[in-house]
Amino acid sequence: MEQINQFLKEAEENGLLRILHPADYRRNGVICIEGREYADFSSNDYLGLSHHAYIKSASCNIIEKLGASSSASRLLSGSLTLHSELEDRTASFKGKEAALIFNSGYQANIGIISSLCSRGDVVFTDKLSHASIIDGVLLSGAKLFRFLHNDAGSLESLLKTHRQKFKNALIITETVFSMDGDIAPLKDLVSIKEEYNCQIMIDEAHATGVFGDSGSGIAEKENLTDSIDLIMGTFSKALGSFGAYLACSKNIKDYLINTSRSFIYSTALPPSVIAANLASLELIKKEPFRRRELLQKASYFRNELSSLRLTVKGSSQIIPLIVKDSRKAVKISSLLKEKGFWAPAIRPPTVPANEARIRFSLSYCHTKDVLDRLINDIYEINEF
Ligand SMILES: *Cc1c(COP(=O)(O)O)cnc(C)c1O
Repeated sequence: MEQINQFLKEAEENGLLRILHPADYRRNGVICIEGREYADFSSNDYLGLSHHAYIKSASCNIIEKLGASSSASRLLSGSLTLHSELEDRTASFKGKEAALIFNSGYQANIGIISSLCSRGDVVFTDKLSHASIIDGVLLSGAKLFRFLHNDAGSLESLLKTHRQKFKNALIITETVFSMDGDIAPLKDLVSIKEEYNCQIMIDEAHATGVFGDSGSGIAEKENLTDSIDLIMGTFSKALGSFGAYLACSKNIKDYLINTSRSFIYSTALPPSVIAANLASLELIKKEPFRRRELLQKASYFRNELSSLRLTVKGSSQIIPLIVKDSRKAVKISSLLKEKGFWAPAIRPPTVPANEARIRFSLSYCHTKDVLDRLINDIYEINEF
């Protein structure tokens, strides 16, 4: 108990205490907290689909027909024809033979990695990999090496030293990184994977719906789908809904159905969520203007901040403004809040020490007017 009090006290003193901010509602680039509306730069609803009328009605209609729950795990009786339909659509959206749905991105990563890898195997992941990837590797018992962020040379030198000591090797990276907004050098990673006889898995959580001609992600954009063994992604970000998937070969899918514990021991996603995901995939096809405009807005915003000599990272819809010091980040975030913008300070341990930042996550719903006001207010806060 003493230990817990000490932890809370120290976290508060160091500006690292995390607290929940319950929102009254959030829609179309706006969030309402404690009765006040803010322009919302903290959501992953990049395309504004979470309130799309087509998705909402698909979800409501199916709840009337099939009820609120799947009431069992997939392997018992929770697997509906709707789940199979979503898997088929997802497989073709991602250009793979098969797809398997997981209940969330977190559950997908821990379930996939811990099934496919075990003691005696080795995993190489990017240093900035999402916690769910790291947790999956820890759960698997495989040896973990982390290469320098987006540095194919660093990966190659680890492989040179360690590859031959292990039977199976898996390389894992995100494609769009959630805290830096930058993009993995996928072509280089794929050629290294081939040279060193590894498998490669990518996490397209932040890329799905945003990048590629048909919105499938970075693998599509770089024309590398066939060279990537395992393509994981989520329905919870740009797709405006919930849940996740792995697109892969049919054999791997069948193996995971039999061995992946986060898949086996959890109730299937409810029909309302599956229907929303199906509707969302249709909209990604029918409304490509959303992703095009989102990326235009993101590059406008990033360029304007750079021209003010601020340190911004990345090349996607996620735009981190680096301020280094945690307390300063919290201060800037709260000044922006006073001016009507909800943009979170991201602090260690989520990002490395001395790399605290404000993370602006852009949405198709942000107007140019909102962006210009934000740019102006950031300039005036002038705390940098
Ligand atoms: C958000 C995220 C996840 C987890 O997905 P959820 O559906 O929110 O559980 C996994 N990987 C990355 C890279 C993410 O950004």
